[in-house]
Amino acid sequence: MGEVLDALVIGAGPAGLGVSYFLKREGLNHQVLDRGRIGETGRTQRWNSFRLNSPTIRSILPGDAYEGPDPWGAITHHEFVAYLEGYTERHCLPVITQTQ
Ligand SMILES: Cc1cc2nc3c(=O)[nH]c(=O)nc-3n(C[C@H](O)[C@H](O)[C@H](O)COP(=O)(O)OP(=O)(O)OC[C@H]3O[C@@H](n4cnc5c(N)ncnc54)[C@H](O)[C@@H]3O)c2cc1C
Repeated sequence: MGEVLDALVIGAGPAGLGVSYFLKREGLNHQVLDRGRIGETGRTQRWNSFRLNSPTIRSILPGDAYEGPDPWGAITHHEFVAYLEGYTERHCLPVITQTQ
């Protein structure tokens, strides 16, 4: 008999990871599936010199607080992808990648 989930989240971008954080906080059994990697859009659909146009402090996900030196700066998409990976790890989010 397979595992019964309370929720299935499609996409390990910032939206899916933020939802996963809240599902976990509520004790709901769920999985996040991504057809690529964590932050796939940021990895493959941005040009190399791209920086987020939203300030860093506005790009922080639920459960995190920004404590760095430049809250109103603009991080690169490489930094943002690394942040998403770290967020997944720190909050032990149940992400499965490369599902296609
Ligand atoms: C050029 C550009 C610049 C942008 N700059 C900013 C910015 O500076 N600040 C900002 O806040 N927003 C910006 N955005 C908007 C930005 O894309 C969104 O804020 C953010 O990526 C949305 O997050 P998301 O998790 O909804 O989607 P995404 O980041 O797109 O994540 C979706 C995930 O779902 C996965 N997926 C999709 N379909 C499936 C499927 N069928 N099965 C499994 N997995 C699937 C994808 O692989 C991907 O990892 C920009 C957008 C563009 C196009």
